[in-house]
Amino acid sequence: MGVCIICGKAGKGIMAKKDFFIIAARRLRSFFGPEEKRTMVHRHHMKKAKEKRANFEKMQGLYRKYAIVFFVLAILGGLGFKLDLWVLFPAFLGALFIAALPYAYYFPSFEA
Ligand SMILES: [Zn+2]
Repeated sequence: MGVCIICGKAGKGIMAKKDFFIIAARRLRSFFGPEEKRTMVHRHHMKKAKEKRANFEKMQGLYRKYAIVFFVLAILGGLGFKLDLWVLFPAFLGALFIAALPYAYYFPSFEA
């Protein structure tokens, strides 16, 4: 039994592939209540689900590039002032933050 990610109705369908995000969400939910509602998608939404997943993956790739560019620029900017290891820390945190942004649009994979 699961809940469809497209139409929100319970039923049987293709289960979301377990990844870090799904496992974390599941742990969080089981913390709040015993009922486990698994994320799935009805077979007839599969095309839409694949499009959404592809879009998420594209964003993920794009933001990973942004994060690297940010990191490099932050380091170079830091070097302009003074070579300091402490530049690495905020640069790394900033890059991590940028890389995490597309997760606001997270969509699971439904490869069977
Ligand atoms: Zn559905």
